[in-house]
Amino acid sequence: MYSFDIPENITYVLDRLHSAGFESYIVGGCVRDSLLGIPAHDFDVTTNALPQEVIDVFSDMNVIETGIKHGTVTVVSGGENVEITTYRIDGEYLDNRRPSDVTFTRNIENDLSRRDFTVNAMAYSPHSGLVDLHGGVQDLDRKIIRCVGEPDRRFGEDGLRILRALRFSSVLGFPIDDQTSSSIHANSHLLKNISAERIFSEFAKLLCGRDAARICEEYSDVICRFIPELEESIGFPQINRYHLYDVYTHTLKALESSDCDRTVRLAVFFHDIGKPQTFDGEHFYSHPKISAQIAENVLRRLRADNETIRAVTLLVLFHDRHLEPTERSVKRLLRLMSFEDARRLLQVMRADILAHTDLVIDAELPKIPLIEDLIDRIEQQNDCVSLKTLAVGGRELIDLGMSPGRKMGETLDALLDAVIDGDVANEREALLELAKTLINK
Ligand code: ATP
Ligand code: MG
Repeated sequence: MYSFDIPENITYVLDRLHSAGFESYIVGGCVRDSLLGIPAHDFDVTTNALPQEVIDVFSDMNVIETGIKHGTVTVVSGGENVEITTYRIDGEYLDNRRPSDVTFTRNIENDLSRRDFTVNAMAYSPHSGLVDLHGGVQDLDRKIIRCVGEPDRRFGEDGLRILRALRFSSVLGFPIDDQTSSSIHANSHLLKNISAERIFSEFAKLLCGRDAARICEEYSDVICRFIPELEESIGFPQINRYHLYDVYTHTLKALESSDCDRTVRLAVFFHDIGKPQTFDGEHFYSHPKISAQIAENVLRRLRADNETIRAVTLLVLFHDRHLEPTERSVKRLLRLMSFEDARRLLQVMRADILAHTDLVIDAELPKIPLIEDLIDRIEQQNDCVSLKTLAVGGRELIDLGMSPGRKMGETLDALLDAVIDGDVANEREALLELAKTLINK
């Protein structure tokens, strides 16, 4: 048997609608997650009451009407926004995305039939129990993602569902039903009609799923529809003392070994994407740089936010940097990036190492926790790793007779190098002494 842990403010909304003579259910993701025993993150309510009727039922409460065109009324209950949507039939899909209009219906069957996958097409109410018209419970038990209705038609209505299927499959760890899966491969061209933002949002969630590597392997043709830059790396040979797999398979192994952090997963996905372009018959010189450029282009095209673009590009650029578990090596890294970025870089490096041969794993893996400890220690001790924390600055150099400009920048950099390398203490007097010698040189 299933149990539903419905928050009080939601139960309150369901009860109010029920008392007013309307049907009301929680629906979609929250029902799926509750049945799986996963804490649901938002509870959507669906009802046969028309939007105006919903407004009337909650006339004594704070009601937000912004989504009313699509049948959604937001009620502030228990200090939180609860979205209440009238049962809908989607109108015609004219361009493989979003219906041209919506029609309200008094019948929950219609509303459940417009939903994408069987596991997402269930409704539950404390008053009338579970409504499962498409075999959602059975598919949850069998751990299968399957379209409601005919896959070709459903993907034809809305191409984004192709990526949603991949996303749910990855996140839940459920394989995709055979017929749905064939239809995804056959219809992947429909993604061309979907906006870059929506593609990226689903793709990033997919990458954070537990089965990201499996999905990226099985559906690389789908991913190549919006990241054609990937194609060359699929099957690109690189087997040698260090590598067991072709470039893309190596990337998938690394994905499998990486933590589920969005930035880290994106960086791992892109880290070697430029390798084929840099191959000179033997080496892949400067592949981090080329990979970082490709990552930046792709992420810009997909309209990722600037912080994601910055962080992912940085991690890709530095993923192959040689690091040793010494203060000097780690401080030199911290001179170039924040503590947070450095920690993520170590995660990318760990994943990358784990996707190499034992030769590499044995030599490199033990260094990673030592380097991570050093990062923690340097942060705790507030050691100087940047010009900001250097005990002298431009002011002091001006007092020594320098004028602002390139030479001054170089002198400050040299002082910071000396502190990081342990040649001089981060103290004013000692640094000024050194500065004088540098200036006179
Ligand atoms: P989560 O919020 O955890 O990402 P979810 O299942 O709640 O998962 P939402 O995008 O919030 O996903 O959508 C809520 C529900 O609306 C889904 O469960 C599904 O029933 C329906 N739905 C959302 N997008 C589509 C779509 N493109 N086509 C058909 N039904 C959809
Ligand atoms: Mg949701």
